Amino acid sequence: MVWKRLFGKKTEDVSDPAPPAPDPGGVVRRRPPAADPALQGRLQALQQRRDMAAYDLERAVAARQPENPWRERMALLDLSLATIEDDLRALDTTPRLTPIPLPETPITGITVNLEEPVSIAFAIGPEHFLWEEEADWDQRGGPVVRGQVQQRSGNAAALVPKGIPADRREALEQHLTESVTVFTLDLRDRALDGEPLPAAPALADLARPCPECGNWLDWRGHCASCATRAWRRQNLRQEAIRIAQERDEEEADRYKWAERLSVARKRLADIDAEVAKLEGR
Ligand SMILES: [Zn+2]
Repeated sequence: MVWKRLFGKKTEDVSDPAPPAPDPGGVVRRRPPAADPALQGRLQALQQRRDMAAYDLERAVAARQPENPWRERMALLDLSLATIEDDLRALDTTPRLTPIPLPETPITGITVNLEEPVSIAFAIGPEHFLWEEEADWDQRGGPVVRGQVQQRSGNAAALVPKGIPADRREALEQHLTESVTVFTLDLRDRALDGEPLPAAPALADLARPCPECGNWLDWRGHCASCATRAWRRQNLRQEAIRIAQERDEEEADRYKWAERLSVARKRLADIDAEVAKLEGR
């Protein structure tokens, strides 16, 4: 198909069946010389303009064909858009998981020590948690980053009850480990800000079922699963907008070329006439 060549480089010459032979001076000349040698430079410039005009005309003709490179690219963009819509639908129709609440086991023995090194301790059932701030010195003598607490003891994953379905257990262990960290940092921040510590917190507060997706909310009521889904949804929507814009630009470009047809045809004819004159035809 003619338009397929338009994908190639603009400067690529596809019209010559064989390379032209060098003239006696060793110069490769593709076309007849000017009748008046003084006008050779002018003729060569015209011949270059003719190549460009011919290329423009070819594009303008292609832009009016039912099949053309713009439409082909638009069809690919439409496919991408359809895929994104499928992905969005899949996100929105993900079935809600069965909520799995945890026991109301009280969190006891909450102690926040603000003397250096800052430490936070509490117990949940048999698990004793201790967190400590990194020592306030640096062996290399460099600046010290404050505010980093390290867990010294306690295993949140061990608090996941026996009866949890196997396919949700690992996710719950991970959630609980993260939620315990959130809880610990909240205790420290409350103590630092002089706010009261939470009254009667329980294990269940670290993993309340998320009303949206059925996963778990952390101590601060944040659902990592919904956040990830929202982030993916936003990315997919942005991608869809970008692709739709690209598609509009393709159509605008195709239209521009299609509208240029008569101008391109006239321009090529004018240059051809001038070339013929200079070649003495
Ligand atoms: Zn959720």
